[in-house]
Amino acid sequence: MTEPPSPKMVRLLMELRGLGVTDSRVLGAMERVPRDAFVPAAFRDQAWENVALPIGQAQTISQPLVVALMTQALEVGERHKVLEIGTGSGYQAAILAKLCRRVFTIERHRALLREAEKRFAELKLHNVTTRFGDGSKGWPEQQPFDRIIVTAAAPAVPHVLIDSLTEGGILVAPVGEERRDQQLLRIRRTKDGVVTEDLGPVRFVPLVEGLPRAAKPAEKRH
Ligand code: SAH
Repeated sequence: MTEPPSPKMVRLLMELRGLGVTDSRVLGAMERVPRDAFVPAAFRDQAWENVALPIGQAQTISQPLVVALMTQALEVGERHKVLEIGTGSGYQAAILAKLCRRVFTIERHRALLREAEKRFAELKLHNVTTRFGDGSKGWPEQQPFDRIIVTAAAPAVPHVLIDSLTEGGILVAPVGEERRDQQLLRIRRTKDGVVTEDLGPVRFVPLVEGLPRAAKPAEKRH
């Protein structure tokens, strides 16, 4: 059973259209994923606003416009196998899951990953496979991927990720040293090498190598 779209959701989708989201498959996927299920209860009333929101561990669920534009830039097809680095709330992975065959997603904060996994199960997104670890190292057992999306910024795209793309594959990632100076890049792997396009300025939390130190007991939440 599908619930009718709420007025708040309809307003957000119209706003996204006005801001350049033209791909009806992407808008359709956003209509079918309840963003309010991916934000902490305290922020649920803002879930249908075009803003990034805190999800704990000093991380954020991206702004809907950024999710839409990145998904659109990725040119996801229904036969594709997609890798996401930075599961966070799981929202971006859920959108991708509606558009492709399988999503593999990696997160370095165990607590965030557990919550995202619960959401995937509740929403019956059975084509999402998760991994706890450092995504900057890729997912060697599962490569190659048709599409790769990185949802945290690094000074450069890790080479191992570009090497994990199929020929004709596309990677979308924010790149920049500083939080204030990041560009969204789209990299296509061709038989002759890679072609890079700059899609404009963005602002993401940093891609951090390695794993966090074990959470102190006071930080555990159950
Ligand atoms: N895609 C997310 C947005 C997450 S914010 C969503 O839809 O909600 C970026 C996430 O990347 C954070 O959760 C952060 O912990 C994670 N991250 C940062 N560096 C990482 C790394 N090296 N490997 C895996 N995840 C990483």
